[in-house]
Amino acid sequence: MSDHVHTTADLTKNQSLVMGALAKASGPLSAYTILDELRDHGFRAPLQVYRALDKLVEYGLVHRLESLNAFVACSHAECEGHGQTAFTICQSCGDVTELADDDLAVRLKSLAARSGFTVRHSTVELRGTCRDCAAG
Ligand SMILES: [Zn+2]
Ligand SMILES: [Zn+2]
Repeated sequence: MSDHVHTTADLTKNQSLVMGALAKASGPLSAYTILDELRDHGFRAPLQVYRALDKLVEYGLVHRLESLNAFVACSHAECEGHGQTAFTICQSCGDVTELADDDLAVRLKSLAARSGFTVRHSTVELRGTCRDCAAG
C-alpha cells in the first residue's frame, strides 16, 4: 500500500460527517442535500460541504457525478487506487451503480497517453436503462 492511501480514520470532523451522510445514502446526494442533513452538526454554508467534498473526491472516497451534479460514496473499500471510475445511471428509476473494471482504467490511460495526455482522474457516466426498468 502506498503512503497516499487515505482511510476514513484520517478525515477531519467535517469530512467524516459528509462521508457519513454519503455512506448511508442509497444514492447520489447533491451538496445542498448534504448541507440540509448536516445543519444539526454545525454546517452553515455550502462552502463547508464543498471543501469537505473536494478532499473526499481527492482521496478517492467519494466520486462526483457531473451529469447529476451530485456525489456518491465509492462502493469499493480500496478505491484509492482507481483513478478511473464508471457508473451506470438509470434514467427511469435513478439507480446509480459503480462499476469496477481495471481494464477500463488501463485502456483509458493508454488511450490518453497516445496523445501525450496524463490522466489524473476520470469518471465515465453511462446513462440508460437498468435491468429492472428494462424488464418492467
Ligand atoms: Zn470508486
Ligand atoms: Zn432503473
